[in-house]
Amino acid sequence: MKYQKTRQANELKIIPLGGCEEVGRNMTVFEYGNDIVILDMGIQFPEEDMPGINYVIPNTKYLQGKEKNIRGVIFSHGHLDHIGAAPILLEKLNNPTVIARPFTIQMIKHRQEDYSAGSSQKLKTILIKKLEDKIKLGVFEINFFQVDHSVMDAVGIILKTPKATIIHPGDWMMEHGPINKQKIRYDHLSQLKKPTILMLESIGSINTKKPVTEKEMIDNLKRVIDKAPGRTIIATISSQVQRIKQIMEYASKNNKKVSLDGFSMKMNIEIAKKLGYIKVRKDVLVPINKISNYPDQKVIMLVTGTQGESQRRPRDGIHLGSSGAE
Ligand SMILES: [Zn+2]
Repeated sequence: MKYQKTRQANELKIIPLGGCEEVGRNMTVFEYGNDIVILDMGIQFPEEDMPGINYVIPNTKYLQGKEKNIRGVIFSHGHLDHIGAAPILLEKLNNPTVIARPFTIQMIKHRQEDYSAGSSQKLKTILIKKLEDKIKLGVFEINFFQVDHSVMDAVGIILKTPKATIIHPGDWMMEHGPINKQKIRYDHLSQLKKPTILMLESIGSINTKKPVTEKEMIDNLKRVIDKAPGRTIIATISSQVQRIKQIMEYASKNNKKVSLDGFSMKMNIEIAKKLGYIKVRKDVLVPINKISNYPDQKVIMLVTGTQGESQRRPRDGIHLGSSGAE
């Protein structure tokens, strides 16, 4: 018995509660002795064989009775498949401390308010101000690294434990032609203390076609907008905040108006603007019911809701409202 207890204390456990070989419901538990750190709390969007289901959340039964050991929940970025279940699970786990970068924290707060008004006040947060920040959570030392993703403030996580160093990039992509920044290098990860455990999977990894770079994509988009004989209507998922930012900034520089439609789209852009991540002239955004005041060629409409919602509410997106998900 005594032997077992010592062994238990020196064991590193990595327990994915969702997000392994599936898209969505991302949540991973890291446990060492009496210390638990969690990465992400996402929802999964229902598939075709789940009629009547609005969203699926990770099963946290493993954490029952261990709530007091949870030293913190780190969120890698603000997409719903990584933060969507936070309003439900944080409360269930006695409101552990939330650790994330500014955009992600604001997204979580919005989601929280949407779920239950006033509940974001209860959130205990540690803001990752710089990528160089180091955070100690029990026995775990947490470091961060930059990754490319379609939303602002996505981070990769390094968890240093007495047994091994875990590297988890969250959601990431390899961008070969970034705009306004250097190509991200990852070689610094090879310097970390061994043994290292690299946790990653990728939905596009078996695609051998040369990827389109961000620069090619944006150049194409600008060409289409410039040549459009009338209004340009761009449908995108609202989680593509980086691309929406580029379109808005392009519109701002070229004296065009942008109109947003869709609940998640408006919310994401509002947060990004407040944090200063999207810089446009004040007069660029116009309400959708005012677009007829401008020449058609001057108007770009950015429309839609959120991830995985095509069969349901094409305009409003998933709304984790207190009445359940609408
Ligand atoms: Zn993502």
